Amino acid sequence: MLRAGQAREDIKVVSFDVDGTLVSPGFVDCVWLQGIPKAYAEKEGLSFEQAFEYVKSEYDKIGEHRIEWYNIDYWLRKFDLDIPYERLFKKYEDEIMIYEEVESVLAVLEEEGYELILSSNAANEFIEFQIEPIKRFFSHVFSATSDFGEVKKTNGFFARVCEILDVKPQAVVHTGDHWVFDFLNPRKIGITAYYLDRARKRNVTDEVRKEDDEFVISDLSELLDDPDC
Ligand SMILES: [Mg+2]
Repeated sequence: MLRAGQAREDIKVVSFDVDGTLVSPGFVDCVWLQGIPKAYAEKEGLSFEQAFEYVKSEYDKIGEHRIEWYNIDYWLRKFDLDIPYERLFKKYEDEIMIYEEVESVLAVLEEEGYELILSSNAANEFIEFQIEPIKRFFSHVFSATSDFGEVKKTNGFFARVCEILDVKPQAVVHTGDHWVFDFLNPRKIGITAYYLDRARKRNVTDEVRKEDDEFVISDLSELLDDPDC
């Protein structure tokens, strides 16, 4: 059973962010910061460091507020790299790490009849490749960038997700590790949001009002009721 918060009997859909929430960021970092510079170094006969610096400066020129930033095919074309992204993904497959508690939490929620979905900023190919072992739990995968052409999960993004699923925001719980995109924005439209702080870095007393304390968790199993209570 989902932990209290709002009227939980009304909750139908449980939504999760992907990077930093279900999977660790290692794989994505390796693809962008090792795979692409390495391939560029080989093509141009540069050292890794030289290639890294160039690639990184080109990433920065585009920046995360433009949609191209998220599109790996754009970057492979831009650097004139003749490798399909699938090959890069395969190379770093071992870096994919699904957090320990994820599968058991999803299994409990599924068993209890909640519809489980993913709501991510990442491009679809990154999401799909990383969540392969747990994909069966999710009815829908929503990518802000691939599906809606938005660079961030705005309140508009969450509103569209609700529309597509034909549920009220009040029937949705979302959890993720970004303070704005996973916590503040979904809340704006009435979704119950949990902020996941795996490293417990955030100074809760500074930014979270007292009554919001229960919406900050450090592990997804905190979404569930304590079975002993
Ligand atoms: Mg995240």
